[in-house]
Amino acid sequence: MIISTVGSHSALQILHGAKEEGFKTRVYVIKGREDLYKRYPVADEIHILENYDEMLEISDEDTILIPHGTLIATLGERVVDIPLKIFGNRQGMIWEMKRELNLDLLEKANIRTPRSFYPADIDTLCIVKFPGAKGGAGYFLCSTPKEYQQKSQDLIAQEKVSANDVENAQIQEYIVGVTMYPHYFYSPLHDKVEMLGIDRRYETNVDALGRLSMENTSIDSTYTVVGNQPLVVRESLLPKILEYGDNLRAMSLKLFSPGLIGPYCLELALTPDEIIAFEFTSRIVAGTTLYVQGSPYSKMLYGEDMSMAKRIAREIKFAIDTNRLEEVLS
Ligand code: AMP
Repeated sequence: MIISTVGSHSALQILHGAKEEGFKTRVYVIKGREDLYKRYPVADEIHILENYDEMLEISDEDTILIPHGTLIATLGERVVDIPLKIFGNRQGMIWEMKRELNLDLLEKANIRTPRSFYPADIDTLCIVKFPGAKGGAGYFLCSTPKEYQQKSQDLIAQEKVSANDVENAQIQEYIVGVTMYPHYFYSPLHDKVEMLGIDRRYETNVDALGRLSMENTSIDSTYTVVGNQPLVVRESLLPKILEYGDNLRAMSLKLFSPGLIGPYCLELALTPDEIIAFEFTSRIVAGTTLYVQGSPYSKMLYGEDMSMAKRIAREIKFAIDTNRLEEVLS
């Protein structure tokens, strides 16, 4: 069996982890970007794509595809039509990308979420988010309906977003808290949720604003991810973070059986009083690449270097050995 992924996002880690578990690997990469996968020798095979739509044409019974954010951002809902076998439940990606479904799952899972607004009702500091996993690009803050209209019309005029994007935008209460992103893994073969690590995203320019004096802070903030930093949390916060991960998996089983399988993530903001989730992701997040050599949490679980990618490959290996592959694929 070959483990494959698309060349971007967390591909280096995914392929490296698969090789560590003894799999042959393949990367599907857009023409012109293959050099990266030659310089880091993690892919046994490099398959060149002219565009991401070609992923809708490739079929190969001996290959498992590990999905990530780039597939969702580029193919949108067509991601479920990929002919290759996908590790995890492909329905999860639909629940992730449709913002109303994303929030619905969080709320039904008893996870505290930010308040949502219609444009005319905005009465507090809000963040406006556009459809798809675009890494926070184009998001803006506003505090009144008028400011919302002005900023969204400006973005349309600059062709940064479409009128359709604005119509489907999500307007959420802005949580002033410490953001963090715990990485969970649900093993259907062991019926267990594991929390393997936590990262913080480093986003431009919002994470650079703290370096300016107050006089300069009228600059509009943006939320484009440029990298990730490691984090451990106060131990007293862990039970709630684990409970949220368990709840999310349990409710996903009810809403889109067999529910979330393999890696998933919660996007949290911690205030002095609450742990609030503003989104979930249904697949590996790029911040897991911090832990190619394992995180403090995965080390305590496994006593060995266990990256998210290695954990995925180990589940696939166990599934093959026990004839249960269909339980981890869709
Ligand atoms: P998302 O597309 O939901 O992953 O959001 C991208 C980034 O925007 C996050 O990593 C946060 O920095 C920020 N963000 C999103 N939603 C909120 C919120 N409700 N409150 C505060 N920050 C947020």
